[in-house]
Amino acid sequence: MEDNILQQIDLYLKTLYPINRSITGKGNEKTLKILQEICPLKIKSISSGTSVFDWTIPPEWNVKKALITDLDGNVIVDFKNLNIHLVNYSTPIDKIMSFDELDKHLFYLKEKPEAIPYRTSYYKRNWGFCLSYNQYKKIDKSKKYHVCINSTLDDDGKMVYGELYKKGKSKKEIIISSYICHPSLANDNLSGLLLSCFLFKTLSQIDTYYSYRLLLVPETIGPIAWLHQNSTKNIKGGLVISCVAGPGPLGYKKTYLGDHKIDKAIKYALNKEEYIEYKFEPIGSDERQYSSPAFRIPIGTITKSKYYEYDEYHTSLDNLEFISSVNLLKSLTIYIDTIFYLEKNQKYKRKFNQCEFMLSKLDKIYPDTGGTISQPSLIKDHTSHTYTPKSNGNILDCIAWLSFGCDGKNSLFDIQEMSGLSIDDLIYSLELLQENKLIL
Ligand code: ZN
Repeated sequence: MEDNILQQIDLYLKTLYPINRSITGKGNEKTLKILQEICPLKIKSISSGTSVFDWTIPPEWNVKKALITDLDGNVIVDFKNLNIHLVNYSTPIDKIMSFDELDKHLFYLKEKPEAIPYRTSYYKRNWGFCLSYNQYKKIDKSKKYHVCINSTLDDDGKMVYGELYKKGKSKKEIIISSYICHPSLANDNLSGLLLSCFLFKTLSQIDTYYSYRLLLVPETIGPIAWLHQNSTKNIKGGLVISCVAGPGPLGYKKTYLGDHKIDKAIKYALNKEEYIEYKFEPIGSDERQYSSPAFRIPIGTITKSKYYEYDEYHTSLDNLEFISSVNLLKSLTIYIDTIFYLEKNQKYKRKFNQCEFMLSKLDKIYPDTGGTISQPSLIKDHTSHTYTPKSNGNILDCIAWLSFGCDGKNSLFDIQEMSGLSIDDLIYSLELLQENKLIL
């Protein structure tokens, strides 16, 4: 089963990587249609020109071709070989010009001579090409060049995004948001898009307490538009999924509150891993919009090779060789575990509140406790939740704390914090008590 999911991830990475994505355009729609094979996303849109808070939905950008040739027809740079060669949102042009004029529109990285940078110009009309410094050095500076960008910026166009709602027992909602606007860049953020869809596929197979909403939106303008058009009154927290399949360390960026249940669930999920903890700052991804003063939604992020933290970031070196499906699956497991803990964090009540339970009546619990029941896994095939407690003593401690704490007011996380016991032992014991109908 694990091999099967790795194969699926690899296949989708290869299919989706070459597509030219941006904040608008046909590439985004094509990407969403392919992702619909994983989970039944609704493809929604908002018209170009619509005002959303301080912003306006830009014209829809599409590209037919974009290349630089010399006057003998030799190709210098061609968008069709790699879409990040073209500055995203480049305006159309068809002109012969001197190298000096062209040079003002060329972007390269002297310090990383083999890398092609990724550049955008969404809100300032301009055009440009990105190339490696090695390529740049080879250009004959005495020649003239023909620049041809056949692109359109359509004021009657639209911005598309993907949305999927999964109803839980409660109307309380958790949003899972990832961004669709990056073209051929693998870790940032094809990995996040794909992980979000597999996470939702997993969620669709189980009954949940929370309702969940998946949003696959262009970064920044996407959440701004969504927040403008929709109510957030049921949203209690969220996860922004970005950069999840690199070879670097696992990371966790805190919510703006720092100790919200989202933070706690992530820490439980990362408990057995080495990871870097990043403080909240209003710099980064779409938590900037969701956590702004009008909404204040606590948003956490789990990463593997976090944006800004790897050399390949926003260059052609962030490609399919840089990431792996094994890394993506690792991050997926941690996101699934995060949701597992979040779901378990209820305020439980006892069947009756008076005194201790008489455990000796229950042969599964006392005195023969261990190993009789294994914790059911949230998702059978790719989660670490097949848990066996280390000792009966731990379980008896857990039962004592659960008997004390489950008064309908304390959450499971509260009981974990007051007892200092392992969350997994507590969940194991909780399920034992629930099976015996002592905790409801
Ligand atoms: Zn980025």
